[in-house]
Amino acid sequence: MSQTAIQRLYLMQVGDMPEYKIPIVCYLVQTGDGKQILIDSGLPEIMPEGESDFANGRDVIEQLASIGLKPDDIDIVISTHYDVDHAGRHAAFTNARYVVQRGHQLDAQTNPRFAATRPQWDQPLERIQLVDGDTELLPGLALIETSGHVPGHQSVLVRLPNTGTVLLPIDAVPFGEGFTRDKPADDTNPDAEAIHASTLKLLDLVAREPIALVVFGHDQQQWATLKTAPAYYD
Ligand SMILES: [Zn+2]
Repeated sequence: MSQTAIQRLYLMQVGDMPEYKIPIVCYLVQTGDGKQILIDSGLPEIMPEGESDFANGRDVIEQLASIGLKPDDIDIVISTHYDVDHAGRHAAFTNARYVVQRGHQLDAQTNPRFAATRPQWDQPLERIQLVDGDTELLPGLALIETSGHVPGHQSVLVRLPNTGTVLLPIDAVPFGEGFTRDKPADDTNPDAEAIHASTLKLLDLVAREPIALVVFGHDQQQWATLKTAPAYYD
């Protein structure tokens, strides 16, 4: 096996929405040559105004500490999108390069939805790697453009040596029950078409290649069945 291949995937719950029993999560991927790749960073330390539905748990810094890592050890932060429950601690990773879809970075410049997390994601341009659409970031680690939830949202595919391929749809498919070819019930959402198209894109991917596990973005029922840090998938 090549040195750069993916070796481990950690699942970390960093908070929740207590009223709805929705977990807030992020992920860590480790390669054979020692790269530490964080996927999202969870909630901010101090919740912005109007975000009182969220509650911090053991945050990403504590979760990483539990497996012997400091924020400075993180080489790459894959940013799926800049919502408050996904990009809330980005600025803590001062050695990392951020990887984000160009379309998302562009939208975030003027979209008030991402204003609250701006101090986290608005990093010097030389630290941000903009990608355009589906991208093989590293051997065994692919980004899949899944706009809809927000413009330029991305999902992640992780190929593990023993578990097999794990798909992380993130908020393209937050709940397992939504992973169907049916049109979404809520078609009042102006982005319903794009959300549906991204769901179909991921369903096509699952039909095309063997996927061992799909970890839905915010699915409490599924989450309770998964291995979480310090345990890992390899
Ligand atoms: Zn989310």
